[in-house]
Amino acid sequence: MPVTYTKVEKITDVAAVKEAYKPTHPGLFEVVYSEGDYNSKLVACKSYAKGEIICKVEGTTPGPKRYTSVQVAKDGHIELNSDLVFMNHSCNPTVSLDTDSMAVVAVVDLKEGDNLTFFYPSSEWEMDQPFTCWCGADKCVKSIQGAKFLSSEVMSRYFTTSHIQQLISERDA
Ligand SMILES: [Zn+2]
Repeated sequence: MPVTYTKVEKITDVAAVKEAYKPTHPGLFEVVYSEGDYNSKLVACKSYAKGEIICKVEGTTPGPKRYTSVQVAKDGHIELNSDLVFMNHSCNPTVSLDTDSMAVVAVVDLKEGDNLTFFYPSSEWEMDQPFTCWCGADKCVKSIQGAKFLSSEVMSRYFTTSHIQQLISERDA
């Protein structure tokens, strides 16, 4: 199945990118593009209460593990094919990406303009492109490589998907 969404990643002409942009979830959230590489973000277009479903995750396609994919099973990865691919990582996330119910859920009260972020190791065991986190959270874990590289104590602070819970149990057994 084809990937139906192109993530505009390296931005030199912000005005042109904004001009061409059509939100995939109008009224719910939208991409705020910034110049440079990997500087864009996804923000809420309205307020959400903690625990509220922001959207169902639909229109995905299975594919290989890559920097844009999301792990949905021990050996399964999908492409989101929507603006959700712009959700950045935070060690103090505002949403969970629940791959069991295929929903994006607010984990704090959100207001319009708030950044939608999730904790990447909540779904990713061993990431395609590890990076160093500068999110500024009190308990920032710094090295974001996937749940495989984090203790169960650290992981217990976060929402985690069932395949990650299973992989952690197997690792620690
Ligand atoms: Zn961090």
